[in-house]
Amino acid sequence: MIKEAARLICESKHLCAFTGAGISVESGIPPFRGPGGLWNSYNPDFIEINHFYRYPTESWQLIKEIFYDFFGQASPNAAHIALANLEKMGLLKAIITQNIDNLHQTAGSTVVHEFHGTLSHLVCLDCHKRFRLDQIDMTNLPPECPECVVGLIKPDFIFFGEDIPEPARSNSLAEARNADVMIVVGTTGEVMPACTLPYLAQEKGARIIEVNIAPSAYTGAITDIFLQGPATAMLKNLVAEVEAITLPA
Ligand code: ZN
Repeated sequence: MIKEAARLICESKHLCAFTGAGISVESGIPPFRGPGGLWNSYNPDFIEINHFYRYPTESWQLIKEIFYDFFGQASPNAAHIALANLEKMGLLKAIITQNIDNLHQTAGSTVVHEFHGTLSHLVCLDCHKRFRLDQIDMTNLPPECPECVVGLIKPDFIFFGEDIPEPARSNSLAEARNADVMIVVGTTGEVMPACTLPYLAQEKGARIIEVNIAPSAYTGAITDIFLQGPATAMLKNLVAEVEAITLPA
């Protein structure tokens, strides 16, 4: 199966990856849903947009604790690195990720469409200026806008009650339509509307390679090759097989 997947990858013209929380679990980042998920320990209200406007200080205390102090410690794992290597080999054209942790970029991937936004930037809801994380002082919460001072600063990832950000949405849809092979990694396929992207790709003719620890909504429906196991081991093996095909003996 892994050899067959590697062959599909080597023959692809527009290979794209679609990743979810499962790829970052081995970096110590918990998923939001399911066993051990964040929403088992926290009420997600603090990242609901209207609640955030009403209670910015309380919301920011949790945002800083969970997303910056805790997630900020994480490093890319072998699965992120394997995808970065596939890009360097000229095979992987883009990653669409549901994750906000920036680990694909830290691993070296350069074309990453962040469907749910990112922790690595923040925006001012008043003057709409966008900032890098290192430009924001989190000593006092909520942090002050370095530009207009009075505006409310929000992490540039999607809160409940917000729309999918542009241009990530359009770029992701275009990638899904153009893909002839899509590697789906670490996602159960339940979060709307992100979960529809592999279906769109398959509808447009893409072959689907799925890497998941357990069967997902995709497995029996659209997956052509199911590689069951942890993302790190499976992607490492997959890239090794790809190398065996592409590199001269
Ligand atoms: Zn501002």
